[in-house]
Amino acid sequence: MPTTTPALSAPSAGAALDATTIERRDLGEQDVLIDIQFCGICHSDIHQVKDEWGGSIFPMVPGHEIAGVVAAVGSAVTKLSAGDRVGVGCLVDSCGECEQCRAGEEQFCVKSAVPTYNGRGYDGEPTFGGYSRQIVVRERFVVRIPDSLELQDAAPLLCAGITTYVPFKHWKVGAETTVAVIGMGGLGHVAVQIAAAMGAEVTVLSQTLSKQEDGLRFGAKHYYATSDRATFKELAGSFDFILNTVSANLDMNKYMRLLAVDGTLVNVGAPSDPLSVGAFTLIGGRRSLAGSAIGGLPDTQEMLDFCAEHGVKPEIELIGAGEVGEAYERVESSRVRYRFVIDAATIGAASTGG
Ligand code: NAP
Ligand code: ZN
Repeated sequence: MPTTTPALSAPSAGAALDATTIERRDLGEQDVLIDIQFCGICHSDIHQVKDEWGGSIFPMVPGHEIAGVVAAVGSAVTKLSAGDRVGVGCLVDSCGECEQCRAGEEQFCVKSAVPTYNGRGYDGEPTFGGYSRQIVVRERFVVRIPDSLELQDAAPLLCAGITTYVPFKHWKVGAETTVAVIGMGGLGHVAVQIAAAMGAEVTVLSQTLSKQEDGLRFGAKHYYATSDRATFKELAGSFDFILNTVSANLDMNKYMRLLAVDGTLVNVGAPSDPLSVGAFTLIGGRRSLAGSAIGGLPDTQEMLDFCAEHGVKPEIELIGAGEVGEAYERVESSRVRYRFVIDAATIGAASTGG
């Protein structure tokens, strides 16, 4: 029997989220039924609810930072059992056979990976995300949450953590690397902690100095305001590696010039407008501009274990289902400190209006 579960759903582009119920598919042989306990709010949820990237599917149940407990497993599930503490990130399926899937880079599946929400499964049905009480996911796409991480703290790592861990790993950031992180929101505040834990010398480039104390507490050595023009003069040519986590469009030329010779700026922020870079900005200093999308399942497990070992912990504000609209407004105006996490028990609970 399919499972019916309460959820928060956007009926159309930009509309407020309504309380509703959705169906989860029958538990297949390789499936895991998860009681969701917490789900983080990623800026990507807002981009998609507002259809800022185009092609959004409505009604939409957002949420790809899911932490919960296994309720039941299908007959062919071997690694998980009821009661296990688990997470689900941005992917719920992929072909499993292509070169990318075999390499554990399911996000680049040539057949196209299935996103946790705002996508369609290989059965053609729309996928619904973590702003709900239960979800059914193939075992391959479920990761274990280490015992030392609280579920509500682990939730944001399933997107903000993996999206920032992978570029640092891929571009071999380490003790000798000078790193700048642009934007200290949900992704940025985790990025600062991860890069510092990898031994890098981290600088935060934020719009103002209002979060400086927090940035230094997260492990940054330096903190600069990008609203101050002197910042760009002082830091020109300084960094081996820059991670841009900003959700809006920036003047990339200004930031690229902060790279040292052979430096790389990796963009993970996802504004809808194109990024524009002058040829001479790239040519001078042999600089690279690159991008990175979330991460595969092996890296997601590795990232969770890394965060548990190094004490990387998102700073969260736990909210009820009725507070999601206000949370979206605060994220959009850079007033998030630093990740909103929905207490899934409040979804469908009468007292919250959620
Ligand atoms: P967020 O919590 O809103 O953080 C973004 C930060 O960017 C803000 O806190 C702010 O930091 C800065 N910012 C916002 N507007 C700005 C502006 N107009 N000018 C300069 N700085 C600005 O968002 P998030 O959840 O971390 O997500 C960040 C972006 O990454 C989104 O576009 C999201 O869709 C994307 N994303 C991409 C991937 C991927 O796989 N590549 C995965 C997840 C998310 P300060 O206040 O410190 O300046
Ligand atoms: Zn996300």
